[in-house]
Amino acid sequence: MTARFGAGIWHFASYVDRYATDGYAEPIGMLEMIDRAGEVGDLSVVDLNYPFPGCDAPLSEVQARLAKNNLSVIGITPEMYTRRFSRGAFTNPDPGVRRAAHDLITEAAGVVRELGASYVKLWPGQDGWDYPFQVDHRKLWQMSMDGVANLASENPDLKFVIEYKPREPRVHMSYDSVSRTLLALEKINLPNIGILLDFGHALYGGESPADSAQLAIDYGRLFGMDVNDNMRSWDDDMIAGSVHPMELFEFFYVLAKNKWDGVWQLDQFPFREDTVGAAKQAIRFLRRVEKGLERLDFDAMQAAQDAQDAVTATRLASDALFGDLAN
Ligand code: FE
Ligand code: FE
Repeated sequence: MTARFGAGIWHFASYVDRYATDGYAEPIGMLEMIDRAGEVGDLSVVDLNYPFPGCDAPLSEVQARLAKNNLSVIGITPEMYTRRFSRGAFTNPDPGVRRAAHDLITEAAGVVRELGASYVKLWPGQDGWDYPFQVDHRKLWQMSMDGVANLASENPDLKFVIEYKPREPRVHMSYDSVSRTLLALEKINLPNIGILLDFGHALYGGESPADSAQLAIDYGRLFGMDVNDNMRSWDDDMIAGSVHPMELFEFFYVLAKNKWDGVWQLDQFPFREDTVGAAKQAIRFLRRVEKGLERLDFDAMQAAQDAQDAVTATRLASDALFGDLAN
């Protein structure tokens, strides 16, 4: 097994939050971000925001820059979470804004075709609610499903992935968990919509990312994944492996056991760190995970799991990941 690595291009951006409103670093445009992604050396694909931030170059120039850095595009993430969508994209009370979201995502679908990417990534971060009594929950959920269903049925040649997350920026996101997202996909019942499972979103949503992955796989919906890490109370998007190495290893164990062979993608926000360095460290850790999977005795692990033998399972996993005491 040789993992292929990717990253959301925003990994290489400079960030603003509600305190550092002047940004944590100088602003940087998409073309420069692509160069930084190239500098990492181990990335083969990127996911690009659309419209391309800080970049009005024609698509051909973006393609040339990607080619120069030996990168291809796995997904396009339409920015359906910016100011005009602050009360939702699929669920906005204004039908004109809902249409604008639909049009933006349809445009992004065109870019996916032109770049030969794998999917349109939907991150409905503004679809949800903030206050008790703010929304009619039945209507909101229906609109959340309709928005996705319309796009998927209008573009049967493309894949769409939904990246769920419990909250932020909305206090509560409509697609908040693996189970709720699967419930929608079962109901919509179209083959071209799946889940992009973000390890950190599962962690911070109180899920076991390994269990979430297994569930999404069993329902035939694991179309992509992101890794990062956090302190479990927020989407900190820290360097993969820095906080929850064992759960990350279990997550990849489940993917390997199911022969899931998608790209291992970074979705990190190195606010104060060197962005290229943060990506390199994550990949260094992921290579350890890969090595750990090679060392792991899958049959012994299965036997331990069949007996729910936590001590043996922990020994097998930790020796595989960290090396046994003799070496
Ligand atoms: Fe993500
Ligand atoms: Fe996130």
